[in-house]
Amino acid sequence: MVNSALQYPIYGPEIQCPHCRQTIPALTLTDTYLCTRHGAFEANPDTKELVHLQSGRHWRQWDGEWYRQHTHPDGIRFEIHEALDRLYTQGYRATRVIIAERYKDLVNAYLERNSPWRGQVDVSASPKLYGLPVEFSPSPEDDPQWAVINFSLEKEPGVPVTAIPIFGCLSSRPNASPCVYSHAGYSPSHSFYERLGFTVHERFTAGITLACWIEGLGGRIELIQVPEPRPAADAFGDEHYTGYYHLSFDLTEQVDSLPNWLAAVRQSFAAEEGSTKALTILLEPQQQIIGDRVYEVAFIADADGLPLEFIRVIGHVQP
Ligand SMILES: [Zn+2]
Repeated sequence: MVNSALQYPIYGPEIQCPHCRQTIPALTLTDTYLCTRHGAFEANPDTKELVHLQSGRHWRQWDGEWYRQHTHPDGIRFEIHEALDRLYTQGYRATRVIIAERYKDLVNAYLERNSPWRGQVDVSASPKLYGLPVEFSPSPEDDPQWAVINFSLEKEPGVPVTAIPIFGCLSSRPNASPCVYSHAGYSPSHSFYERLGFTVHERFTAGITLACWIEGLGGRIELIQVPEPRPAADAFGDEHYTGYYHLSFDLTEQVDSLPNWLAAVRQSFAAEEGSTKALTILLEPQQQIIGDRVYEVAFIADADGLPLEFIRVIGHVQP
């Protein structure tokens, strides 16, 4: 009689797909699991790694969870970035990140080191990632989980250090990508724009930092993380301010009434009370004649205080 356990790969008759988490079956008498959406995964009985054949990505399992094994610094950085975003939406801020010792060489060049004396790197200063102090884990011999898991975050309840954009610029056309420089790493910026109706489309690196494209309201914005940001200039309140001013969104095609839309947005922010502060209205909706048209116009401040303008055409000026 054949031992039935031997008919299956090392992780048994079925696993959760590491990509989509649906339960996927093993193919009998092979080391392969097959996801209908993501194709074949092969379990290596010697290394205990699960390899996605199409992408070459590797995972190992600890305590029933898959942990992607990174070979590129962006991989581990993105994963930490996403975990920080998640913490924020749960009402926590991170205070420290502990990265598995095996990634030390991979991430070292990407850590921020303060250099208080002209150009000299202070090797004694604790390195940082996204403004957070970084430590490396004990070795797997001392604590076996660190052979598999990638990092852990220490957290406390509270709002993250505020995010400060440096400038925004004008566009409400699809495919245009104005930049909003922001401390997006563990900033309220993402969730602020998500609540306005934007969704993250692409995450990527920009120099040593991280960026993403978010799309919504007929436009696209690029958010760039700025470590240790300076406060934004008060573009709305300072009459003598010069430079890039604000983003403007034409909602004529998107909404039927600017006051009603803004009231709904305000309500959705108020409902999230506790995890974020109330929406700041810089200018309540009002009508303005610009050229031969009548517009509804309103201004709000984004999570970093950057003015956002919303306009909607409501008619033509009667001759
Ligand atoms: Zn899948």
